[in-house]
Amino acid sequence: VSDRHSMEAGVQIKAIIDLLDQSPVLSPEQVALGLWTAKRFLSPIYLVFEAMLPAYIRQKLERVLVGQAGTGDLDARTKSFLDYLQTPRTEKKIKGAFSDWQALLAPLEEEKLVQWRWQYTEPKEKPLALYLADLSEEAFKLAEQDLARAPRQQATLLALFTDGPQTASQLRHRFGGTNPHASLSALMKKGYVRKEESYQAATIHSAQVTPPAREITLSEGQAQVMAALERSLAAGTFASFLLQGITGSGKTEIYIRSVARVLAKGQTALVLIPEISLTKQMLSRFAAQFPDDIAILHSGLTDKERYQQWRDIKAGKRRVVIGTRSAVFAPLENLGLVIIDEGHDGAYKQTEPDPRYHAHTVAEKRAQMNQALFISGSATPSVDLAYRADAGSITRLSLHERPGGANPPTVQVCDLRRELDPRQVFSDQLIQALKERLALGDQALLYMNRRGYATALVCDECGEAILCPHCDVALTYHKNKGVLRCHYCDFVSRPPATCPNCQSDQLNHRGMGTEQVEQAFHALFPEVKSLRLDSDTSRDQGEILRAFQKGEAQVLIGTQMIAKGLDFPNITLTGVLNADLGLYLPDYRAAERTFQELTQVAGRAGRGDKPGLVIFQTRQPDHPSLVAASAQDYDMFYNHEIEVRRMIDYPPFTHLMQVVVSDGDRLVAEEAIHALARDLKALTKVSAKDGERYVQLANDPDSRDRPDRRLIILGPSPAPLERVRNRWRYQMILKAAHLPTLLTVGIWCRNYRFSSRKSKSLRLTVDVDPENI
Ligand code: ADP
Ligand code: ZN
Ligand code: ZN
Repeated sequence: VSDRHSMEAGVQIKAIIDLLDQSPVLSPEQVALGLWTAKRFLSPIYLVFEAMLPAYIRQKLERVLVGQAGTGDLDARTKSFLDYLQTPRTEKKIKGAFSDWQALLAPLEEEKLVQWRWQYTEPKEKPLALYLADLSEEAFKLAEQDLARAPRQQATLLALFTDGPQTASQLRHRFGGTNPHASLSALMKKGYVRKEESYQAATIHSAQVTPPAREITLSEGQAQVMAALERSLAAGTFASFLLQGITGSGKTEIYIRSVARVLAKGQTALVLIPEISLTKQMLSRFAAQFPDDIAILHSGLTDKERYQQWRDIKAGKRRVVIGTRSAVFAPLENLGLVIIDEGHDGAYKQTEPDPRYHAHTVAEKRAQMNQALFISGSATPSVDLAYRADAGSITRLSLHERPGGANPPTVQVCDLRRELDPRQVFSDQLIQALKERLALGDQALLYMNRRGYATALVCDECGEAILCPHCDVALTYHKNKGVLRCHYCDFVSRPPATCPNCQSDQLNHRGMGTEQVEQAFHALFPEVKSLRLDSDTSRDQGEILRAFQKGEAQVLIGTQMIAKGLDFPNITLTGVLNADLGLYLPDYRAAERTFQELTQVAGRAGRGDKPGLVIFQTRQPDHPSLVAASAQDYDMFYNHEIEVRRMIDYPPFTHLMQVVVSDGDRLVAEEAIHALARDLKALTKVSAKDGERYVQLANDPDSRDRPDRRLIILGPSPAPLERVRNRWRYQMILKAAHLPTLLTVGIWCRNYRFSSRKSKSLRLTVDVDPENI
């Protein structure tokens, strides 16, 4: 800004004290993308920008802002950002920062980026018996007894013992904000914990790079797809593609070639994958092609690693980014291609906390802003995307067969209702198939529906399950560690000796978990080696997969982690133990998710030259999702499902928004949601013509009965999980065919001032395009 301009505008120019960064941390393109994301998902702007920056940069920014506060001169936006930053902080800390803010302005040295984590260690002095037997479980029990009078320390130690090393802030989070330092230093004095430098997560260098095994000639189908993509690349304008192809049809090969084309043009590429566990596979194939160009971004990196990757991307040293959800904001310049693999995956939506963005939506927008190519790849596209392909707003490219002659597996449906013993884990049909395949030396997968695994501790006398003290859910029992765990807030405890409800000692575990499958399998096949992989296995997941790949075990038992992306040619049998479990969930996408999951898991069998067999065990063999999944017929599924959606007025025919009001006091939350609902309804008029509700905007007098102003209000009602982390939750689901109408209502909700002064902790969240409702 020149002096003359600023004088005219009445702005006073201040001197620059120091230069924080040589170049802005966010590019103009990122700023534009951030602003768009904030509007599209009704997220606070600063949280979107925060998601774009690695923690290290954020810390620096935070220190400078806190330092600046000492000068007593802030603009409103800085102030609100500052307020946000300060909320969880103690006054003392901020005061400390004020007194010495000059020092804080000094750039952090990289060495200071090391994260400290706390680790459980066995006490040095332990009974001789323990040395001999190496019973770490026993040693831990002794430690627990020792700490019987210090429950806080006991709980801290249990958390470290069951979940491994953690940072102080992780511990604080799981103890509801209580500072763990007192417990930790007491435990350190007693020799039960030690501090360690953060572990080295997987980096490019440690990842295995598989050399390009053979020169691959594209199949005819792949060549056609490639030709279409190349035409768009040559045009150099935005184009959006749905790459639909069954698992193993060669989509990744297409990704690699498209990336090569874009790099050759001097541009950069972004590749999104749904989960960390899939990075290594994708990485090794990409790294073989572009060894020096790849950066990875995912939550498994330490702050330091993340910062290093971010810095290299920003400096243009790495031109291909592979990453999970938040990598959609990676600081790439001159972007030519955005790929989102398994585009239908729910992991691309951030549900908690804000910003609740959907990376698929943001990725496509980013491609558009950059005149880049967008490719969403999937074997089972979301109903929304397939509908868009039919309507022509995204171009569908299909791959129909597996190159190299591998045939899709045979699928058998096993009706569990016909089995004699309803509690049996394995049907006779599956046992028979296992016997045959294992005798041949093949490998098998045993798959538990992802959300279906939960083993509660239930009282046989009164029938009550042991519940989480902070949430409205039953605790899950983990037999190998002998602990109960809450999957919502991470609370862990030892199982009580008697039922808290009726004092009976008849507590037993119920439900089918992967651990039970493992046990049942061993009872049937005592001589066959198996491995288990789920979010509770303590061993490194990559290690388990490598062991399985090397043939150290013949059977792999697991949850959804084993369903995706694995490419092991020796697997010829997949057993799905409870194919229908996902159908019982109160989620409008339950049928879609079940179909996707089953198709995905079926794709794991028979990827090599040997024919594959898949068995679905189910009590609902006639459900359309099961029928379509066993026929491996996407169109059959889609044609049925799209009619259901049309009938019930759900996406893609409407957009959804979930509004949740929560408070520690149940009554306060309940009153608040009813007040909100009442005032929202007052903004709308019910049409005499069709009985529907239409939003009446103040500046838009003839909005009555306009179809684009229709709003459907469901609720208010208790949220499906009524209490989480001690907060009672009430919700409304809002539906509108016209997105701007819905967003306008969402902004109104966000700005709503609750009259209740009773509770300061009342919280309102708005989730656009929510998952799991
Ligand atoms: P997807 O990503 O659709 O699951 P991939 O690209 O991983 O499929 O391909 C599956 C397997 O087939 C991989 O091992 C890959 O190397 C191989 N493959 C892909 N394209 C060809 C081809 N044209 N000829 C031979 N093998 C191929
Ligand atoms: Zn809980
Ligand atoms: Zn009881």
